[in-house]
Amino acid sequence: MESVILQCDEVTVDFDGFKAVQGMNLTLARGELRFLIGPNGAGKTTMLDVICGKTKPAVGKVLFGGSRVDITRKKEHQIAELGIGRKFQTPSIFASLTVYENFEIAMKQNRGVFAAMRAKLRKEDAERIAAQLDMVGLADKAQWRAGGLSHGEKQWLEIGMMLLQEPEILLLDEPVAGMTDNETEKTGELLQEIRKKQSIVVVEHDMEFVRNFASFVTVMHEGKLLKEGSMDEVQRDDRVAEVYLGK
Ligand code: ADP
Repeated sequence: MESVILQCDEVTVDFDGFKAVQGMNLTLARGELRFLIGPNGAGKTTMLDVICGKTKPAVGKVLFGGSRVDITRKKEHQIAELGIGRKFQTPSIFASLTVYENFEIAMKQNRGVFAAMRAKLRKEDAERIAAQLDMVGLADKAQWRAGGLSHGEKQWLEIGMMLLQEPEILLLDEPVAGMTDNETEKTGELLQEIRKKQSIVVVEHDMEFVRNFASFVTVMHEGKLLKEGSMDEVQRDDRVAEVYLGK
C-alpha cells in the first residue's frame, strides 16, 4: 500500500456559524499530485488553510507523515517547519533582489529564520541553488532582478524558494492563474518533476490544466467532498456535471 503523508479526518470549519468546510476527508499519498477542484466558495482554499495551520477547524483532525503526527492545533510556523509549504496566489518574492539572491535567502531560511540573517552559504548550498535554478528553468536568469521576471517566472521563482526549504508537501493555490499557455505547460511539467520527491496539493480552476496533468482529483462542493477519482471518472459523474462543469 502506498504510504500516506497527509490525512484530514472529518474536518469542519465554522466561520461564525457558517460552515465553509463540513466533515471533509482527504488522504494524500507520498509522491502524489492531487488536484482539488470545485465551484467558487466550495471550501478549497479553506482546506489548504486548515492543512497549513492558518485556519483552525472546529471539528476534525489533520495528521501528517508516516507516524501520523497530529498537527491540527499546531501553529502555522511549526507546521511549516515540519515540512508543509504553502504558496499563495500572489508571489512573495523580493522584487529588488536578483533571482539568485532570492534563492540564497530561501536556502538560509532552511537553517532557521533567526540564523538566516548572518548565515553564510556553504559550497553544497551553492550547488543546491544551482540545481534548483535549473529545475525551475531560471538558470539563465539568475542575475535578473526578480521584479523584472514574467508573471510565470515569478511563480517558478517562488516555487523554487519553497523547494529549497525542503518541504514534504507543497500546497499551491491556483499556480497557473494568469499564465500564458506556454508557462502553464511548463508549470505542469515542473509539478510532475517535483512529485518525484514531494507530495503536492493544487487548488485549480483551469480545467484544461487539470485534465492534462491530474492523475487523481478531489471535487468539493458546499464544503463537502462531492467526488474523488480520475479526471475521467469525475467528469462522468452527474452530480459533478451539475454543480461544476455546467452540463
Ligand atoms: P473556494 O476556495 O472553494 O473558492 P473558500 O475556501 O475560499 O472557497 O471559501 C469557502 C466559503 O467560506 C465561501 O463562501 C467564503 O465566502 C467563506 N469564507 C472563506 N473565508 C472566510 C472567512 N475568513 N470568514 C467568513 N467566511 C469565509
